[in-house]
Amino acid sequence: MKTKLILICCLTAFLVLLVLQVNQKAKCDKTDSSTQQLINRLSNKQRQNDQLEEFKVVIDPGHGGEDPGAIGYSGSYEKDFTLSLAKKVAHLLEQEELIGVYLTRADDIFLSTETRERPKFANDLDADLFVSIHGNTFDDPTVTGTETYYYHDHSESLANILHRHVLEATGFNDRGVRNENYFVLTDTFMPAVLLEIGYLTNQQEEEKMLTEVFQDRLATSIAEGIKEYLEVD
Ligand SMILES: [Zn+2]
Repeated sequence: MKTKLILICCLTAFLVLLVLQVNQKAKCDKTDSSTQQLINRLSNKQRQNDQLEEFKVVIDPGHGGEDPGAIGYSGSYEKDFTLSLAKKVAHLLEQEELIGVYLTRADDIFLSTETRERPKFANDLDADLFVSIHGNTFDDPTVTGTETYYYHDHSESLANILHRHVLEATGFNDRGVRNENYFVLTDTFMPAVLLEIGYLTNQQEEEKMLTEVFQDRLATSIAEGIKEYLEVD
C-alpha cells in the first residue's frame, strides 16, 4: 500500500514537471519568433533606406567658431560665407531621393583640425563623396578667380566636373584644378574636393559672393556637379 502511494506521488510529480516543461518551450518559441520578426522588420527598413539613400554626400563649410577663415575686403568672415552656401547646397540635394546629405557643421561652431574631425566625420559615415567649401584670401586685393583642389587620383574627375560647374556660375577668372595636400583631401577615403569659390579679399568678388542671388546660383551649380558625378537625375 505504501509503495503504491509513493508510486502515485512520483507519477504526479513527473506529470507536473512535464506540463511545466512544455509550457516553457512554448514561451521560448514565442519569444524566438517575435525576435525574428523584429530582425526582419529592421532589415526590411534598412533595405528600404538603402534603396532611397543610395549616396551619402558630405558638404563641409570651411572654418567656423573661433576660426573665421579669410577676412573679406569689407571685413566679412569666410566662415559665414561657407556656412550660408553649404546650407543652400544641402537644401537642394535634400530634394534628391537617392542622395542623403550631411553637413560637417550646421552652425557657427569650431571643428578641430588637430583631431581631423571633418575627414573623420565623412569616413565614419562611409560617405560617397566630400565637398569642402571655401572663400579665398590673398595679400594683394587684385588677385581674383576660382580654384578647385583635390589630392588623391580618385578625386580628379569629381574636381574637374565641379570646377566646370562652379566656374560657369561664378564667371570669375579660371585659376584651374590643382593638386594640394590639404588634410580634408588627404585624410578622406572617398573622392573629395575643396572649392575656393573666389577671393573674398577682392572687392568685386566679395561683393558678389555675399549676395543671395549669387549664392543661389553657386549652390545650384555645385548640386548639379554632384548629381552629374553620381549620375543621378
Ligand atoms: Zn578657407
